Amino acid sequence: RKPDIECAVVVLGAGPGGYTAAFRAADLGLDTVLVERYASLGGVCLNVGCIPSKALLHAAAVIDEAQHASDYGVDFGKPKIALDKLRSYKEKVVGQLTKGLSGMAKQRKVRVATGSAKFVSANELELTGGDGKTQLLKFDKCIIAAGSQAVKLPFFPWDDPRVMDSTDALELADVPKKLLVVGGGIIGLEMATVYRALGSEVTVVEFMEQLMPGADKDLVKPLADRLKKQGVAVHLKTKVVEAKAEKKGITCAFEGDSQPETKTFDRVLVAVGRAPNGGKLDADKAGVRVTERGFIDVDAQMRTNVPHIFAIGDLVGQPMLAHKATHEGKLAAEVAAGEKREWVARVIPSVAYTDPEIAWVGVTETEAKEKGLKIGVGKFPWAASGRAIGIGRTEGFTKLVFDEATQRIVGAGIVGVHAGDLIAEAALAIEMGCEVADIGHTIHPHPTLSESVGMAAEVYDGTITDLY
Ligand code: FAD
Repeated sequence: RKPDIECAVVVLGAGPGGYTAAFRAADLGLDTVLVERYASLGGVCLNVGCIPSKALLHAAAVIDEAQHASDYGVDFGKPKIALDKLRSYKEKVVGQLTKGLSGMAKQRKVRVATGSAKFVSANELELTGGDGKTQLLKFDKCIIAAGSQAVKLPFFPWDDPRVMDSTDALELADVPKKLLVVGGGIIGLEMATVYRALGSEVTVVEFMEQLMPGADKDLVKPLADRLKKQGVAVHLKTKVVEAKAEKKGITCAFEGDSQPETKTFDRVLVAVGRAPNGGKLDADKAGVRVTERGFIDVDAQMRTNVPHIFAIGDLVGQPMLAHKATHEGKLAAEVAAGEKREWVARVIPSVAYTDPEIAWVGVTETEAKEKGLKIGVGKFPWAASGRAIGIGRTEGFTKLVFDEATQRIVGAGIVGVHAGDLIAEAALAIEMGCEVADIGHTIHPHPTLSESVGMAAEVYDGTITDLY
């Protein structure tokens, strides 16, 4: 069969990994096709992930901030929420970005092909359009960026719209009176933050012994305390074992240490992790190995076991984060264009955009202790920060982890408002091999929350001072 489309590089999937790879490949002079099954570019992140969730979290933060303002004499009263308007705001934000991507693809002469792709051979993909028509695409090199999707626990009645994954929850169909969030990780807690601010009574169950598994326990505590104060019921070491759709709601049975009193909920959000899409591409027809769980293994240049086929983003492994996907996308495109590049993922910041935010990067204190690494820790409580006091958010702290022998920064963790923005300085410090004194000697603007990074670093000579 004669191919309908031919190109030097095809990128399979237009999420943050895929569009970055396609744009970079085109910038490096390669004739590039970007394949996407949906009409809108941007993947999970732009359409049903990072971007819409942050738009809604912004609304939640404004609601909370306005309510808190009465503490200092400014009373806005009880918020009136026009759900349709909030939904349109979120959609406008998403639309602006996805449209922008289409424009950028055109500018670079990246051809976009719409259709669901499967491998036919090591140099061919078959694309099936919405109308069922197929196209054969022949490529010299391929970058697989097909991403991931929410894990759907099989015992939930998924045909009932009251059972939601994160995509459904972002639709904001209504504000349920009682919402159960299954899974206390980043996505579950971000959505819990949104719905709680909008007025839902929220219950969270988490199977592990702490919220946000992966983050240091001390970083999670200020968030757990605030959730408790706000009336969010958190049940750790507990899981849902049964869920039934009834007229009055979704009734769940729980197993574990701390069982919720409420058993019936108006809606349930299942946020127990994401599974890679690697197993759905007929990758074996190209000779690409896919693990049992659907991941595709790659080397430090993002090559699969088939040297002219690369893979990036969520489907090559954890952490499943957009900025990891984009970095890998750039790298794969550069290697595909013949550049000698490689990358070992050490410094990938993780951020939960909850309230307060939790951010961490590099080696965590827990991990360092488990591995028996000899580390020093500099910790600065925001209760001693003039800025944190001024905005009434002193529950945060900043922590730097450094190698005792070399004094180099190896990790950092921050909890508090804007922690996600603040962690970037620590990521740079690790990448540049900074010693803790380098940060301590750097002048941070006063009064800002960024000073807390400088103050945490001042442990190097034992001269921590308060920052009023
Ligand atoms: P994806 O974004 O999953 O894109 C893959 C694309 O490939 C999709 O568009 C899909 O339609 C397409 N595709 C798949 N199979 C085929 C096929 N056979 N044919 C054609 N097209 C195909 N990360 C952050 O860093 N920060 C955040 O704040 C954040 N918030 C999130 C909030 C939520 C609710 C969720 C669900 C995720 C969030 N993430 C966040 C994670 C982030 O969205 C992902 O890490 C990121 O989207 C991964 O990018 P990717 O390019 O690997 O794949």
